[in-house]
Amino acid sequence: METSLRVGIGYDVHPLVKKRKLVIGGVEIAFNKGLDGWSDADVLTHAVIDALLGAAALGDIGGHFPPGEAQYKDISSLVLLKEVGDKLAAGSWRIVNIDVTIVAEEPKLAGYIEGMRQNLSRTLDVGVERVSVKASTTNGLGCIGKVRGVEAMAVALIEGKQ
Ligand SMILES: [Zn+2]
Repeated sequence: METSLRVGIGYDVHPLVKKRKLVIGGVEIAFNKGLDGWSDADVLTHAVIDALLGAAALGDIGGHFPPGEAQYKDISSLVLLKEVGDKLAAGSWRIVNIDVTIVAEEPKLAGYIEGMRQNLSRTLDVGVERVSVKASTTNGLGCIGKVRGVEAMAVALIEGKQ
């Protein structure tokens, strides 16, 4: 059977609020606000989850991990990512690469990017050279520019014999 390639896209936004930890790509970042959501609201990891699920046509993050369920309250999104990685492996899918862009005006993320790549790589058991994380801003435009939230988009390529 021929190898087949599938690509998926993921997108997520969470609001920045007081009295929440800021976790992006599984890295806790020192900042005066954090992302609000039912889980740890790790916007980057959520975008990656949706890209992987999308590539395998397995639905979306809300369908697999419904917000409002007690078991997912404040859960590390890396735990959810691991489950998704396991679902793909169970379907004999292998991750070719992942590329992510985080859009945040503040805080500056450059010092945290390597840690995010390592977390995704380790959680999904895929080489870090296949995991790209980039950070951008909106140059002050819109709600992201006003530091009211953080946005992330991701693409994932997977291969299998399906
Ligand atoms: Zn989310």
